[in-house]
This record gives sequence, C-alpha cells and structure tokens, in this order.
Amino acid sequence: MDLNSKIRTIPDFPKKGIMFKDITTVLQDAEALKFCIDSFYGYYKDKQITKVIGIESRGFILAPALAYRLGAGFVPIRKPGKLPAEKIRQEYKLEYGTDTIEIHKDAFQKGERVLLHDDVLATGGTMAAACNLVEELGGQIIGLSFIIELAFLNPRKKITGYDIHSLVSYSSE
Ligand code: AMP
Repeated sequence: MDLNSKIRTIPDFPKKGIMFKDITTVLQDAEALKFCIDSFYGYYKDKQITKVIGIESRGFILAPALAYRLGAGFVPIRKPGKLPAEKIRQEYKLEYGTDTIEIHKDAFQKGERVLLHDDVLATGGTMAAACNLVEELGGQIIGLSFIIELAFLNPRKKITGYDIHSLVSYSSE
C-alpha cells in the first residue's frame, strides 16, 4: 500500500507557512484505513499493551480502533477543561505561547503497558508532554505511534529513549 499517495498536503493551513498533512483522504479509503490499523497491530500485537492513549483531536480517530484490535483499553489525553474527573496537566511550549494537555488520574494503574498514538509527529512537543503525564502516573511507555512523522523537524530529539513507530516519514517539506 502506497500510503504516502493517500495523504493530502494543504499549504498554508491553518496558518500561512504550515504544510498541513490531511489524513481524511486516508481515513475515507477503506483499504488505506485497514492498512494503517493492520500495520500498527502487526507492530504492537506481541507487546502486551493494556492501554492505548490517543491525543486530542486526531489521535482519537485510530487509537480506539487499535485498542480494540489489541484487546486493550482506550484513554484520552485532552485539551484543558474537557475531562470531568480528577486530572493532572502538563503545559508545553509552542512556537508562539504555550499549550496544555490533561489526563484523568485514574486512567490506568501504575505499571500498565501503555502505547501513545497521534496522527502527526511534528516538533514532538505534544508527545513529549503526553509522555510526562503518563510517567507521572506510573505508566510504562511501550511505544509512540504516528501515521505521519515530519522527520525534517527533528521531533525525535524531544522524545528520546522511546520506541517510535511511524507509517510514513517525510525527510523534507
Ligand atoms: P507537535 O507538538 O509539533 O509534534 O505537533 C503535533 C500536533 O500538531 C499533532 O497533534 C498534529 O495533529 C498537529 N500537527 C502539527 N503539524 C502538523 C501538520 N503539518 N499537519 C497536520 N497536523 C499537524
């Protein structure tokens, strides 16, 4: 499957200068969707994952399907003010300003084998913050998974020491 050809790049969205990687064209294609889930499943099936964590918003699309396939539970990491119960938060730097993500304190038990998932790995800031939240709660991070990695932004230097698996990697814009 040539997944690369199914990804649509929209220049200057949502802001000038950003080459937006649109995965709706992957998701709407039955074979491409199946390829994504099957590829992730193949990679993680023997790793005894007990929770798959999706990052809001587009991490919520595949993470529950993958959790179901792996026989694991699904946990959301959300933007601030969305989760109703007791939670912890992590602030992180953006190019301009800061952002925050949150997770419920009882999302998983200490020592659980956790897989984190998002659609796109860009600068790595979001996933680094998500890893901090999971580790603060005592989760064991087994892997970080992405459909797309923007390797030319060097995101791996922000998330060192983890097993990172991306289906498509771009070495230039
Ligand atoms: P970062 O924290 O820079 O790794 O950004 C990751 C988050 O921003 C992910 O949740 C992505 O969905 C989104 N994102 C960043 N850059 C892009 C891009 N070029 N195309 C699509 N989504 C992006």
